Amino acid sequence: MPDQDLHSTIRALPKIDLHRHLEGSLRLETLIAVATEYEITLPSFNVESLRPYVQMMPGEERSWRKFLGKFSVLRQFYRSEKIIKRVTQEVIADAAADNIKYMELRFTPQALNNLMRCDYAAVVDWVCAATAEASQQHDIQVRLILSMNRHESVEIGELVLQAAIEYHKAGVVGVDLAGQEDGFSGLPFRAVFERAKTEGLGVTIHAGEWAGAHNVGEAVEYLHADRIGHGIRSIEDQRILSMLVARGTALEVCPKSNIDSGVIDSFESHPLPRLYAHGVKTTINTDDPLISNVTLTDEIVSMMHHAAMSLDDVKTHIMAAANASFLPAAEQTALAAKFGAWLSA
Ligand SMILES: [Zn+2]
Repeated sequence: MPDQDLHSTIRALPKIDLHRHLEGSLRLETLIAVATEYEITLPSFNVESLRPYVQMMPGEERSWRKFLGKFSVLRQFYRSEKIIKRVTQEVIADAAADNIKYMELRFTPQALNNLMRCDYAAVVDWVCAATAEASQQHDIQVRLILSMNRHESVEIGELVLQAAIEYHKAGVVGVDLAGQEDGFSGLPFRAVFERAKTEGLGVTIHAGEWAGAHNVGEAVEYLHADRIGHGIRSIEDQRILSMLVARGTALEVCPKSNIDSGVIDSFESHPLPRLYAHGVKTTINTDDPLISNVTLTDEIVSMMHHAAMSLDDVKTHIMAAANASFLPAAEQTALAAKFGAWLSA
């Protein structure tokens, strides 16, 4: 199938994104509009000249430092309720435009309140309200995941969990551990995730991305991970692979992000097809669409084009995502049934 036709076919397919960060999904045009209104100093007020400051560019050195460096420009934008609601609504509109029908969007309350210094509950409230409104306007169901960072304190993690519990009924379905994986064990957060499970929240842990497979083992065995963010370095350890298969733990794989942060050299060498062939439940997601300049359609087409993934494989991945959502059991069953019907049509 020619590239353009393949892209149209995948774009038309109803899709699921389980791993997308709000803070990595802003529109370039919005950055300029907000900076103009709030008199924020920017390196450029032109979309194309601003792009290299917030997006990985062709030919740029690929490393996690470069990748995370893009967030430092973005961090100065969270200045009001109006901005947070606007960016949330735009992220959801953009996902719906890519024919994503179900998304679990994650955000880090500590990043959003960094300039405003308001309660986490306030920013969570704004994102929940904007999500409910945008879900009414677009043909997409969205749930939220609250992230905490490994390299920040457990006290912050406890506050994030508190907000997740408070907003569980308002659309928050899970909690996430993100941040600098190398050099920061997740074990200090063990009690936080134990409590999250007893409260009925889903747990996803970024692991096996910037550090080895042992971190995936730690996340599953000690941090109650239902899903793993990335987890691609599980391929390095047969014991971890067997554990993932036995437990049915889903991996939230984000191919372009792995290339952009220097974990993987190319789509051709991406471990996704090998993990899938081993029987691991792999899903395909975007991570940070602004920073990686991708849509979910782009991610899937890249894996089909460069890693010999078939349309049936793609559908299996979408169903794996439907079955790995953090929705309550009855809603989860309904979601899987809906996608089953769509994808077999
Ligand atoms: Zn991520």
